[in-house]
Amino acid sequence: GFQRFCTSSAALEEPITPPVQVKYTQLLINGQFIDSASGKTFPTLDPRTGEVIAHVAEGDAEDIDRAVKAARKAFDEGPWPRMTAYERSRILYRFADLIEKHNDEISALESWDNGKTYAQAAYAEIPMVARLFRYYAGWADKIHGIIVPADGPHHVQVLHEPIGVAGQIIPWNFPLLMFAWKVGPALACGNAIVLKTAEQTPLSALFVSKLLHEAGLPNGVINVVSGYGPTAGAALASHMDVDKLAFTGSTATGKIVQEMAARSNLKPVTLELGGKSPMIIMDDADIDEAVELAHFALFFNQGQCCCAGSRTFVHERIYDEFVEKSKARALKRVVGDPFKNGVEQGPQIDEEQFNKILHFVRSGIDSGATLVSGGERFGDRGYFIKPTVFSDVKDEMEIAKDEIFGPVQSILKFKDLDEVIRRSNASPYGLAAGVFTQNLNTANTLTRALRVGTIWINSFDIFDAAIPFGGYKMSGYGREKGIDSLKNYLQVKAVVTRLKNPAWL
Ligand code: NAD
Repeated sequence: GFQRFCTSSAALEEPITPPVQVKYTQLLINGQFIDSASGKTFPTLDPRTGEVIAHVAEGDAEDIDRAVKAARKAFDEGPWPRMTAYERSRILYRFADLIEKHNDEISALESWDNGKTYAQAAYAEIPMVARLFRYYAGWADKIHGIIVPADGPHHVQVLHEPIGVAGQIIPWNFPLLMFAWKVGPALACGNAIVLKTAEQTPLSALFVSKLLHEAGLPNGVINVVSGYGPTAGAALASHMDVDKLAFTGSTATGKIVQEMAARSNLKPVTLELGGKSPMIIMDDADIDEAVELAHFALFFNQGQCCCAGSRTFVHERIYDEFVEKSKARALKRVVGDPFKNGVEQGPQIDEEQFNKILHFVRSGIDSGATLVSGGERFGDRGYFIKPTVFSDVKDEMEIAKDEIFGPVQSILKFKDLDEVIRRSNASPYGLAAGVFTQNLNTANTLTRALRVGTIWINSFDIFDAAIPFGGYKMSGYGREKGIDSLKNYLQVKAVVTRLKNPAWL
């Protein structure tokens, strides 16, 4: 059964009052905040307590339709795709400045709605959101086609045009970073957008979309609809007037939205889905550093990362010491109110995820893994879970195969390189991998052999604006960030002009 490892399972103190007020709770359509057509609202909860932060307009099919109409008009007739690329880029630069100006307020909203630490939002994520918009502002006036040679007297241009109205569905784990990864490239290319936020975290996107209008974005270019997946999300994925769909979330939902896109108008889809990323620790590694990195790779953001290093593969020669030190590190991890200084881990996003994670803990114990730390709730309210470490984890256990999306580290033992390559790749997912070694040849072998979209060597979770991110296999397809993401939002048009009496070809 469950054992108690953490010494302090004491009740949390009174939650700290977030230094922000909720200003916007309605749908943002055609530059206006409006109620949903049905008049319905849904509560968004504080994961520290389960209490209501605000009631938010609940968008459904009719609201998605209104939003698509506004986006359609903005794209087909409005100034946005027709203004100079330089003007578009200046609006995006101004938006980045406004994000920086409101950094504290935005970070507080993000932390309150999601449960991530305020420090992580304020010092890493929201500055990165500004950075991403500057990066894409820089691209706006550098997107152009090419001239290609043709056989015969033809002048051939290849034009890169915006794709039109982009539907974007984002998850709750990094609400505004996911906003930036999707909205940044779509706007840089001159598209219009209908964005559906995750029902758990609707607040920050509404706040910054208002800033985007202050920066000069014309009405209708971005429309933000809060609401649930099977209603608002499904309506967006299957809308006949949406030209492109971008989705981040679970693999199961990814399959559903791709099918809806195909059944409606065959809109192209890009998917960023789940993962079960290996973090491979070789026996030449500095153990203390390796323990810290593997701890970070899993526990960062309460373990709620699609690329979490959720299979910690450790060489047998250092396995026992590694497990002991990982246990000590997990016991030291500071869990508490995300607004409190020095706290490393806040609550999980909601009750559903909280229960799902505790189910996985039970499954790990039942299947014979050794629970070395945590394994139960922290405190007596909200969705906090103690940092949990399992050793003696075997590949066939549920905790080694399925995405847990919580603070549960699984440590597996391996003997040699070929074996760890085979076992790492024996997953339907292929999002990311971490490698910890001092040996260049080992690093190079792993780099080529692992079938994943990102490999971090002696590092983890480095997410600069220019680095492309995305999956192999069932972790999805298409890349976000970097140059590659622009392709998701561009059409390619070939223009062939016959030349009369050309002096040269
Ligand atoms: P989800 O995939 O169901 O939700 C992601 C987004 O898709 C949300 O905006 C949601 O409203 C929307 N959605 C849900 N059902 C839909 C439908 N039928 N049609 C259209 N849109 C729909 O994920 P979840 O339920 O929030 O979390 C479940 C699991 O997904 C997690 O435990 C985790 O394993 C995984 N997840 C992965 C990521 C990631 O970044 N890859 C993010 C969040 C969750």
